[in-house]
Amino acid sequence: MTRQVDPEFARLLAPMDVALQPASAIACGLWANGRIGYVNDAYQQQATALMPAPARWGLGASYFEPMGSLLEPFYRRVFAACAQTGLRYDQTYFCNTPEAERHFALTAYPLEGGAILTVHTLARARPLPQDELAPPSAGPTAQCPHCRRTRSGGDDRWVFVSEWIRRPPLAATPRLCPPCAAFYG
Ligand SMILES: [Zn+2]
Repeated sequence: MTRQVDPEFARLLAPMDVALQPASAIACGLWANGRIGYVNDAYQQQATALMPAPARWGLGASYFEPMGSLLEPFYRRVFAACAQTGLRYDQTYFCNTPEAERHFALTAYPLEGGAILTVHTLARARPLPQDELAPPSAGPTAQCPHCRRTRSGGDDRWVFVSEWIRRPPLAATPRLCPPCAAFYG
């Protein structure tokens, strides 16, 4: 697997060598319209594990579509502000797996013409907290598209259900859990 880059986008990346280190950093570049113009090796590996179809994450795909409509407005807003002010943007976010709670650091760098380079590095990982793990339960289910906690069966608690972290239950309604809503809402 090698990096994929639109030739025009490669020109924008030329001054960004420092941002693209270390090689383990997961990098993706997007045009002002939100379409992907660049993905590095680490991004492709990560994306393939989560979304097998390259049409969802390769060149020309929408950067925002896979994150869902609850998170998209937030990221569109911060990237637009990044492009407009010319200032880099930093935050951490969850990318949890059935095995671990993982915090990634995201840095967004403004490029020419409203394009953005996003660089993601794993900041912290720990086993999923045992007291927040629960078995699946029947009934209406909501899942938080950010941390992947779910609430189901009339239970008010938001918990991790291992098998629903990688793939939400079919009938789940996307809904931000309270802490994520406080940040993204
Ligand atoms: Zn959440």
